[in-house]
Amino acid sequence: MPHKAGFVNILGNPNVGKSTLINAFVGEKLSIITSKAQTTRHRILGIVNDDNFQVIFSDTPGIIKPAYKLQDAMMDFVKTALDDADILIYMVEIGEKGLKNEDFFNKITQSKIPVLLLINKIDKSDQEKVTKQLKYWQDKVPNAIIFPVSAIEKFNITPVFEKIIDLLPESPPFFPKDQFTDKPERFFVNETIREKILLHYKKEIPYAVEVITESFTNEKNIIKIKSVIMVERESQKGIIIGHKGTALKRIGTEARKDLEKFFGKKIFLEIFVKVNKDWRSDNRQLQRFGYKE
Ligand code: GDP
Ligand code: MG
Repeated sequence: MPHKAGFVNILGNPNVGKSTLINAFVGEKLSIITSKAQTTRHRILGIVNDDNFQVIFSDTPGIIKPAYKLQDAMMDFVKTALDDADILIYMVEIGEKGLKNEDFFNKITQSKIPVLLLINKIDKSDQEKVTKQLKYWQDKVPNAIIFPVSAIEKFNITPVFEKIIDLLPESPPFFPKDQFTDKPERFFVNETIREKILLHYKKEIPYAVEVITESFTNEKNIIKIKSVIMVERESQKGIIIGHKGTALKRIGTEARKDLEKFFGKKIFLEIFVKVNKDWRSDNRQLQRFGYKE
């Protein structure tokens, strides 16, 4: 059997379950799963390898109309996802009426590459509703192969995976087979800290912060990490740190525990908070944070 390999890009509104699906396929905790929108700002690749194939999954940010520069940069990722894919997965959830961004919706319906439309979260629904939704989506996206699924329950995930393998082009692998992600370790540190911020602060805070990891030193028995939480205003810095530093301490402790599990090693994690006005609209800063090439 000739070797197959290719890129599968997953598109859909925030919170439809894209990260959950990738995790179900890859079987590792690779990306953040949270009930808040727009957690996944970066392109995250999960790779599933076998002797005969390599599937590279990309979790793109939610499709939204750009409101300020940061979202512009996010839309660039989404565009790339449409351009370089071998297969598109368009994910919707039960009851949803379609993409908020019509331009992208049109691109999907006119796509020349195969489109798998997954109706997710059917665990929250019943047979009758699922049948109705199948018909609705088949009319709306006639070029798609449709699967009702539950990413979280891993229901009907295997047939989707088999279809992907079937549709993949013949190609040698793109990445060494022992590598399951193309993102460096620092990325996981940043995203883990971001996840804790999302969990523990009210919504103005998470959207005003960015995390960068300035150093990551892998020693014999310990990994030493120094990360910075960037905020826009002094007042936000105060909130992040909390009374006598308790809030920041909790973030640090929880992030450290997750990272110790992830890397399988003891972690020494230092987190600093810095004020950096206007990081959202400053292009140079966006570059530094990895949103732009
Ligand atoms: P993303 O923004 O598209 O990446 O969505 P996530 O994967 O982060 O999931 C958003 C929320 O939906 C999380 O709370 C998930 O636990 C939940 N979720 C994902 N898949 C399912 C599913 O199949 N059924 C149900 N009931 N919830 C799901
Ligand atoms: Mg996500």
